[in-house]
Amino acid sequence: MKKIVILGGGISGYGSAVLAKKKGFDVFLSDAGRVAERYAKVLDEWGVDWEQGSHTMERILAADLVIKSPGIPEKAEVVKALREKGTPIISEMEFAAKYMGRARTICITGSNGKTTTTSLIYKILSDAGFNVALGGNIGESFAYQVATAEYDWYVLELSSFQLDGMYDFRADVAVLMNITPDHLDRYDYSFEKYAASKMRIVQNQHSLSYFVYSADDEAIARQIALHPEMRQRQLPFAARTAIASAAGDGFYAGEEFSARVGDRELTIDCKRMKIKGLHNAYNAMAAALAALAAGVEPTQVERSIYDFTPVEHRLEPAGEKDGVEWINDSKATNVDSVWYALQSMTRPTVWIAGGTDKGNDYEPLKAFAREKVKALVCMGLDNEKLVREFTGVVPEVVSCSSLDEAMREAQKCASEGDTVLLSPACASFDLFKNYEQRGELFKQWVEENVIQNSKFKIQN
Ligand code: ADP
Repeated sequence: MKKIVILGGGISGYGSAVLAKKKGFDVFLSDAGRVAERYAKVLDEWGVDWEQGSHTMERILAADLVIKSPGIPEKAEVVKALREKGTPIISEMEFAAKYMGRARTICITGSNGKTTTTSLIYKILSDAGFNVALGGNIGESFAYQVATAEYDWYVLELSSFQLDGMYDFRADVAVLMNITPDHLDRYDYSFEKYAASKMRIVQNQHSLSYFVYSADDEAIARQIALHPEMRQRQLPFAARTAIASAAGDGFYAGEEFSARVGDRELTIDCKRMKIKGLHNAYNAMAAALAALAAGVEPTQVERSIYDFTPVEHRLEPAGEKDGVEWINDSKATNVDSVWYALQSMTRPTVWIAGGTDKGNDYEPLKAFAREKVKALVCMGLDNEKLVREFTGVVPEVVSCSSLDEAMREAQKCASEGDTVLLSPACASFDLFKNYEQRGELFKQWVEENVIQNSKFKIQN
């Protein structure tokens, strides 16, 4: 019997283990860290042999095929040993797609906007009554769903790490939002290598497949130029570049966008959308094109787009009191996502930023900071770089080393008509477990100290 080893017992690993077991393979799962209780339970229920806390190398090296979690880097000893031996290593997506039968996939990647666009596409298809599942980086494990249910469509959010382990996989509809520097530590600090990895989203596509992409993105344009053999139906979307594609396209101008696939077309008034900013117009355009390509009727696409509310921690309104609006954009962990957050601000802004700096270049943010930010509250253990970069750019820069201190300072700086925006441009690991916890604590603070406690109340 073919031996499959699964490296990593997180969401992708446990799902792959269940599917491999169901398909009759000899399965062994190994995780050098700890396997979460909920996954351990499922592995036991399915009779999967597994270990945690270390890797038993002789069992791992005996594998015919390895399914690796996207979180495990190439430089991990176990991966190096497998590469040396020549064992094929694939990702959960590659494995599960072999067993999904006639189901079709819409796959979304990019440096920013993946979760928002993926969630919106999923909503459009499910509102339209499609038998659709959500997977990849969000929702339930793709492999687990393939093992335990039957769907006609899968909407999958893919990171570059997942794409790196995909070879024969073909997306019926591929969506590439943008390519800006991120995770370069996993790509030998080469932006072109990272971009090439994102471009794997179109591999194996044929003349009936669709490719939705941003025509405003120079890195994508460079990648397309490297692939003159591409034959799929191209659906570019743009706000700045003139485009025309026989298959269809999306174009944004004057706070409206149009999207067309074949002879089906729709128009969206972005002022009526609940998700704000140019970046969300891009996300909605991409989602509209993907949904039209999947066969959803234009009027249904329009209805779902207007109905869609922001995903948690992405420019998420956290409350308004005494004329001050509080916005949680904790997921903005790189400079590009903050650029779009500041771009979308329509009121004077008290901006809370900081955390673990990933070698950021803050230059692109300075024009919006000058124009819109009345105070920058730095929230991190080491704020030196942020303070230095923005002193003289914005009228006031305050340095804080805890959430509570930062929130109090932000509250002091904000007056009626202002927005307080948490959009950190940095990872959260110096003060928080992850970006989700940072966003939760922000919202909780607003609820307890702002919403339930008016600033104008007499304090004693
Ligand atoms: P991802 O899943 O790629 O991280 P999200 O939808 O979770 O993307 O958004 C991450 C951050 O990037 C949020 O702060 C959000 O406001 C910002 N953002 C969302 N869409 C875009 C986009 N198309 N371009 C740039 N930034 C974006």
